[in-house]
Amino acid sequence: MINTISEIKRKFDVNEVRKDFPILTRMVNDKPLVYLDNAATSQKPQVVINALTNYYTYDNANIHRGLYFLSELATEQYEDARLKVKEFINALSTSEVIFVKGTTEGINLLASSLCRAKFFNEGDEVIVSNMEHHANIVPWQLMGDRKKIKLSVIPINDDGELDLDAFEKMINPKTKLVSVVHISNSLGTINPVKKIIDIAHSKNVPVLLDGAQAVPHCKVDVQDLDADFYAFSGHKVFGPTGIGVLYGKAEYLEMMPPYQGGGDMIRTVTFEKTTFDDIPRKFEAGTPNIAGGIGLGAAIDYLNQFDRKELAEYENMLLDYATKKLSEIEGLRIIGKAKEKASVISFVIEGIHPYDIGTLIDTDGIAIRTGHHCTQPIMQRYNLPATSRASFAFYNTFEEIDKLVAGVLKVKKMFS
Ligand code: PMP
Repeated sequence: MINTISEIKRKFDVNEVRKDFPILTRMVNDKPLVYLDNAATSQKPQVVINALTNYYTYDNANIHRGLYFLSELATEQYEDARLKVKEFINALSTSEVIFVKGTTEGINLLASSLCRAKFFNEGDEVIVSNMEHHANIVPWQLMGDRKKIKLSVIPINDDGELDLDAFEKMINPKTKLVSVVHISNSLGTINPVKKIIDIAHSKNVPVLLDGAQAVPHCKVDVQDLDADFYAFSGHKVFGPTGIGVLYGKAEYLEMMPPYQGGGDMIRTVTFEKTTFDDIPRKFEAGTPNIAGGIGLGAAIDYLNQFDRKELAEYENMLLDYATKKLSEIEGLRIIGKAKEKASVISFVIEGIHPYDIGTLIDTDGIAIRTGHHCTQPIMQRYNLPATSRASFAFYNTFEEIDKLVAGVLKVKKMFS
């Protein structure tokens, strides 16, 4: 049975919403958990946990192959999840939704398949930005080793915003792909991706968006964006780990060769020759993460109860409040001050290493991220080894931000 998106939305109430996430009631170091590392991974509502448990408890069977009840049931649930993803990102068809492990595998799949399709010639360029996650740098370099692809990097200003004029000038006949992050995981910048796509398309260059941070924060419509490819991870959008999506326009996916070979992606196999299944199956070799797919479907159902705009507005209020409160701390500098920002705040404090901040506030049960956030080039841009990063989801509260601020002040006092 397919779940259609309910028109009647559940009213957002943070105290009620928190009850949906069992982990939020746990203690850490004898203090209530304050989880502010949502950009790394989000917590899971009980309905997602139930979907995984139910699948393994009652419905476990391999998919696509069996002609018996359980296999058909598991297949139906997995393919139903694909349909939910299709509607969630407004893809034209389920054949454009490839299940992968996560954003990283999605980008690796694309890089590997495009190379095999001889899409790149020696000396061709992929345009990325200065604020990419390593997942959108290293796969292109791996392919570059084979094909000599050059990475061209869109510069940013000091606030962490892309220089679109520079970007436009960078596109040249060697540019084969633009691959940029939709929302930066280390700066929080929401990039003007529609504009980027318009500019790239005006020069006939396709665009991949790394949507790992965007999908949890805003409604993504791949058709409205006219994105050619879009990758995201289930675990950042309140779903399980080990499942994600690479969306691709059918016209590209049709011409791309498989990423991996094995069972489930073939039509016929002889020792001389193999013919492949249709998209998206030709990209999904082997037994997939069935429970993960079903769990992602449950996460999408969960989110669909709400008006996404209402969730985003609440997250923006958290961001504004945290920005104001943290800015009041003497010696604290926020890294990334873009006008358009999602609920991610990176900061540094003069004279205190981010690792010390992270470790010390953990003693108060507060979980934030410290390090380079898998974005070393942006750290180099700001001449920093690392930052501390707090990132919010709609289940976070203003009181939790107060605890963060109090925790940071306590660390500062210890170092003064
Ligand atoms: N891109 C961005 C912007 C991210 O934030 C992340 C995760 N931190 C990734 C890619 C990689 O995601 P995953 O590890 O789930 O594949």
